Amino acid sequence: MRVYLNDGLVPLKEARISVLDHGFLYGDGIYETMRVYGGVVFMLEEHLKRLQRSAAFIGLTLPKGPGEMKASIYETIEANHEKEAYLRLTVSRGAGAIGLDPELCARPTYIVFAEKLKPYPQGFYENGIKLHITAVRRNLKEAVNPQIKSLNFLNNILARIEAKKAGADEALMLNHEGLLAEGTVSNIFFVNGEGALCTPRVDCGILDGITRGVLLDIAGRLHINTMEGRFTPADLYSAREVFIASTIMEAMPVGKVDGAVFKVGETAKLLAAEYRKEVDAYTENTRAAGPSIWGEGE
Ligand code: PMP
Repeated sequence: MRVYLNDGLVPLKEARISVLDHGFLYGDGIYETMRVYGGVVFMLEEHLKRLQRSAAFIGLTLPKGPGEMKASIYETIEANHEKEAYLRLTVSRGAGAIGLDPELCARPTYIVFAEKLKPYPQGFYENGIKLHITAVRRNLKEAVNPQIKSLNFLNNILARIEAKKAGADEALMLNHEGLLAEGTVSNIFFVNGEGALCTPRVDCGILDGITRGVLLDIAGRLHINTMEGRFTPADLYSAREVFIASTIMEAMPVGKVDGAVFKVGETAKLLAAEYRKEVDAYTENTRAAGPSIWGEGE
């Protein structure tokens, strides 16, 4: 595996960062997780915009502009010959003396790596996963705002530990008001009794997932009524169907929320299929428009 570290590609073994990197010492940094389909990064512009927004939130000047970041991303994909991949771009505050002041760090550390996608088990998509509503509340948006995709992941890790103990595949966090927020790596959706597609509003304190945005757009185009609102666990328990969504999992049905059982619903199936069509159209358009990154003869 070759990793893009700061200025270019290096073998994984040589991809070293300082023990004084503030990303390591303090979780001071940001990242994006992207998915590569057939050599194309789906929704690349949106991921880079969100990275820029996270950087602005924490007062970090990105070491590269969008064009350079795109080039580094495609260089990494090409160097690793990974066409179906998980791709992560991380930017930390960089190495500096001990202390919280970002000015101690002369330059941010920039890392891109891509590894072969390890898909979730097919059974998860066929039968739905198990969700556990955790006692760990989502960070207040007035604390570390969940809209910052930051290296501070302990809130979500604590929630995931609890979910695992409860025998669940993913944790669902509530916000400080007891309203539905989001999963540890996913956004939550449900279909209510009237057939409306519901998902927590961004101001409930969630990351506005890129997959969430794509699914809401698709639902709108299909004339499915959508509601971004303030929802309680009782709303979820009375839902007809429940699913979660992320870049890596796409739309994934939920079969159980603690003791409550849900059928894999038609809306989740329809949206999952339409999402795939959107991915196909996107990859085709990108191939038609973009520089060739797929190697000769393809
Ligand atoms: N919420 C959290 C906390 C996440 O980590 C993720 C995964 N990035 C998501 C939601 C889903 O976001 P996206 O659709 O952009 O992957």
